[in-house]
Amino acid sequence: TTQAESYEFQVETRQLLQLMINSIYSDKDLFLRELISNASDALDKLRLERFNDDTLDVDTSDLHIRIDLDATERTLTISDNGIGMSRDEVVNLIGKIANSGTAEFVRQLKEAQKEAEGEGATEELIGRFGVGFYSSFMVADRVTLITRRAGQAEATRWESAGEATYTIEALEEAPQGTSITLHLKPADPEDRLFDYTDPRKVREIVTRYSDFITWPIRMEALQVPTPEEGEEPPAPEFETVNSRKALWTRPASEVTDEEYAELYKRISHDWNDPLETIRLNIEGTLQYQALLFLPERATANLFSPDAKHGVQLYVNRVFVMDDAEELLPPYLRFVKGVVDSQDLALNVSREILQQDRQIESMRKRLTKRVLQSVKGLAANEPEKYTKFWDEFGRVLKEGLLQDFANRDAILEVSSFLTTHDPEKRTSLRDYVERMQEGQDKIYFLTGDSRQAIENSPYMEAFRAKELEVLLLTDPIDEVWVDGMPEFDGKQFQSVAKGEIDLDEKEEAEREEQKEQFSGLLTWMSGVLTEDVKEVRLSNRLTTSPACVVSDENDATPTLVNLYRAMGQ
Ligand code: ADP
Ligand code: MG
Repeated sequence: TTQAESYEFQVETRQLLQLMINSIYSDKDLFLRELISNASDALDKLRLERFNDDTLDVDTSDLHIRIDLDATERTLTISDNGIGMSRDEVVNLIGKIANSGTAEFVRQLKEAQKEAEGEGATEELIGRFGVGFYSSFMVADRVTLITRRAGQAEATRWESAGEATYTIEALEEAPQGTSITLHLKPADPEDRLFDYTDPRKVREIVTRYSDFITWPIRMEALQVPTPEEGEEPPAPEFETVNSRKALWTRPASEVTDEEYAELYKRISHDWNDPLETIRLNIEGTLQYQALLFLPERATANLFSPDAKHGVQLYVNRVFVMDDAEELLPPYLRFVKGVVDSQDLALNVSREILQQDRQIESMRKRLTKRVLQSVKGLAANEPEKYTKFWDEFGRVLKEGLLQDFANRDAILEVSSFLTTHDPEKRTSLRDYVERMQEGQDKIYFLTGDSRQAIENSPYMEAFRAKELEVLLLTDPIDEVWVDGMPEFDGKQFQSVAKGEIDLDEKEEAEREEQKEQFSGLLTWMSGVLTEDVKEVRLSNRLTTSPACVVSDENDATPTLVNLYRAMGQ
């Protein structure tokens, strides 16, 4: 062992370290995610290097990550048998901020703080740059790194207390790969959660953030049999704590339905199997995979204002956030699953997601894919589709108001109660196919229930003429149908509104009738002047003598009620 040499950190590094020590992250647990992700990268790199150069003298038979905890010494050590680093690499990668982006980050951060824009600006900046290895100093007051590059004999020891300097020293031997020991800050007696020597706490963080890391992450087994009297305690047993089941990275042909169902249940906390599984693999300038599920059942809070989205965001298999509402529009909030991106920074923030053009393009793509899958159900699996629509039709129709670009696609997969069939709903496509000679509108009536609508006097003439009417019973129907220009070139027409020409009655005959009833009409208009705009003859009724209709542009009674319910 040679003498340890002391070096000064670059100015930017020092500034970054200061930020870490004063903990700009609100969530300290993230340090483990960063270190595991570095270890995983190092294992990937070794495998690749070995693949490209099979003369490289390394053992790749048991590549893994290990976490050791020592409550007495208050240390957490994370080691990998990956690529490791040479001395120069340690100086360049760990001692400096190799990534010029990080220097820029520190500069912008200082600026934002000077202008006292507060927490928000800081969080946003953190989301834009990676801070990686240095996040160890959020929880440690000293960090020791020992590493040996694969294929090299000499090892290196690096240590720092996160202040101005670090030391470097050559070691004669060390296992291949990297081992990082965090000398943890004193435990806060007030805050039990802060104890990173607690194996349960650490396991929980590992499974939360790093469950889908491909390499095994091993920790000492929790249940150790107590040794017999006078016997040596057995060597600690290690077990793999991550499931490693990133199903979306495996070829579809190799994944079973049971595995999908298991993953779905874990991320959705649902007892049932998913109704439908959707896989998406995008290659190109943007790379990401998605594994999405349509549930069988709606959750109870789907319509409450605090309803959560069901999609989790991962970056390279590392968990980044739950409830990633930027990835799908609100009307698809019932979709559960995982989106794994290869292009985002690990610590990307919500603020960044909201502005990011890549995210916008992902959302468009994912939305199309979900709608396409519903369309597939409607076309090929009518039973599943019916189940789906019973649970989620009402939510999906919110899209008719929110997402104009996909309006046609949503209409295409929507279905409605209809006078054509007392049992089954109809698609608009089927309605249009059944339209009568000369019919150019899609007729509908809104109301509280099928029965209420069918008993309406407005329906009489349509029934007599056997014209099909859609029975729209969801409150939301009233709202979207109002602003919907058409479907397949056919306008929507409420049977409760305005003038309806069901007949080409002779002009003459009509004039004659008008003449005949003019006395009565004038008298009624006079009596009802407070209550109605106009009294006119109608050809919409067959058995009822009279009915009240709205003007083309007036709100219908249901709509009036809906507005009232919304407090307007
Ligand atoms: P990033 O991972 O974004 O590059 P980090 O600060 O997390 O930034 O890590 C800096 C660099 O240090 C890594 O790119 C890698 O080259 C090196 N490094 C960190 N941890 C390890 C490790 N366990 N094994 C090998 N190299 C590592
Ligand atoms: Mg990193």
